[in-house]
Amino acid sequence: MVCCMCSRSVQILSRQLKVSQLRVFHIIAMDTVPPAASGVRSASSFLFDKAFVDGQWVGAKSGSVYQITNPSTGKVIGSVPDMNGDDTQQAIEKANLAFLKWRDTTAKERSLILRKWFDLTIQNKLELAKLLTAENGKPLKEAIGEIGYASGFIEWYAEEARRVYGDVIPSTAASKRMLVLKQPIGVAGMITPWNFPSAMITRKACAAIAAGCAVVLKPAEDTPFSALAMCQLAKEAGLPDGVLNVVTSSRDNAPAVGNLLCTSPVIKKISFTGSTVTGKILLQQSASTVKKVSLELGGNAPFIVFNSADIEAAVQGTMVSKFRCSGQTCVCANRILVQEGVYDQYVARLAEVMNQELKVGDGFDDSTTQGPLINSKAVDKVESIVEDAKRLGARLGCGGKRSDKGVNFFEPTLLSNVTLEMRCAQEEIFGPVAAVIKFKTEEEAVAIANSSSSGLAGYFYSQNLSQIWRVAEKLEVGLCGVNDGLISAIEAPFGGVKESGLGREGSKYGIDDYLEIKYVCLGGI
Ligand code: ADP
Repeated sequence: MVCCMCSRSVQILSRQLKVSQLRVFHIIAMDTVPPAASGVRSASSFLFDKAFVDGQWVGAKSGSVYQITNPSTGKVIGSVPDMNGDDTQQAIEKANLAFLKWRDTTAKERSLILRKWFDLTIQNKLELAKLLTAENGKPLKEAIGEIGYASGFIEWYAEEARRVYGDVIPSTAASKRMLVLKQPIGVAGMITPWNFPSAMITRKACAAIAAGCAVVLKPAEDTPFSALAMCQLAKEAGLPDGVLNVVTSSRDNAPAVGNLLCTSPVIKKISFTGSTVTGKILLQQSASTVKKVSLELGGNAPFIVFNSADIEAAVQGTMVSKFRCSGQTCVCANRILVQEGVYDQYVARLAEVMNQELKVGDGFDDSTTQGPLINSKAVDKVESIVEDAKRLGARLGCGGKRSDKGVNFFEPTLLSNVTLEMRCAQEEIFGPVAAVIKFKTEEEAVAIANSSSSGLAGYFYSQNLSQIWRVAEKLEVGLCGVNDGLISAIEAPFGGVKESGLGREGSKYGIDDYLEIKYVCLGGI
């Protein structure tokens, strides 16, 4: 049974739900998520306790479920099916049947459905954002921003669906005509993370759907509800059954689900966003069927402030880049490298702005800018990284410890005098910790920046035009922000180099990963 209702139908639903389900529903309806204004669909009406396969809300064959908690309060939001390989196999088969029809639709038909899905997402923006804040913890304002970003991908791919052009190649033989067709690759398997529970769904799935592919997607175990809510809106928009399937699973079953997606001969493409460790496992597994693979993996972004920089702009850029989603984005500034001439000024000003602007708290509190980390494991990791830095001589500008707001909260932390052997300079911190390293020359900064095996985002601040060109060209990254700390955009390609991944998402390039190129030679003309 699925919790899909407007407030007027709560009573009907109450009779249909078992007691345990009802209890969970009331928790989210009355406690975890604030109520909607009258006449508007509530966030609770988007809370589905089943997976979405072949257009139906289904449980795991085993009957297993697992619970999702609000990382801010620790309260249970609801439960979803804990699916395994068998359930995934069934979803793949359904997706394949749907693909055989979906690939033959016209680009305009696909475009119109995506456009309708976009409109519905915008209409329900606030309620989807509330659901997102409840399961992820990010401040509601950020969640609203994410729903805007997520729906932007639906709109973008509604447009891109109609721009998949082939080629006619000038032939070397008078009797031949040489053509290039672009065709959907097939059923795509997707695995997404918890830090952008809506945007990572639409950035991947809508590219595939626009191209004429069908999708089997496993959302992160911590944040399945946002993905399921998107399925409901896709269904309302008229997306045929089986084109989008979401299989939910706990962390324990994630390897089995992932393995099946990667090794199934029916799946022709894998798209994953998450840790580098998991990405490497999926890449290896995908080798068995020679699948096309896109990976968007971890970063260790350098954020360089040169002597010529506008320091105020650099500090503001740091705030945006470092503290969005409490420092839990793969494009977060990780190694903040500041040239010696402006080092003290930058550190002092950053401390001041952090103290003024950052407020830790529940995501539904209007004044909160820093929500909880996703779970206690994440807090343990951030704490040990900060302890390591302190032990090796880093200076604490502010924060440095767990917050008294709750078990998953960590205080925004400023570390200066950071050196390269510290863990905060080596690893992706994934928390609200700004680690500032001093450097002397441009060559040194670029060498440090490029010494990482990761290469997702990189940022630098400079007012020197020659330096801007030199450094932009030399940084080994897929995304480069110059005098800007917030650079992701639907229209721009997103993806990394080195161990940060393969392929690009969004932009005019994003759809290519779901298309095969076929050369057709017409002879005997
Ligand atoms: P994080 O540590 O930030 O959760 P992960 O890479 O572990 O990053 O998780 C990202 C996504 O990958 C989640 O959906 C998670 O369930 C999934 N995942 C984790 N381990 C595996 C695995 N061995 N096989 C398939 N999926 C996995």
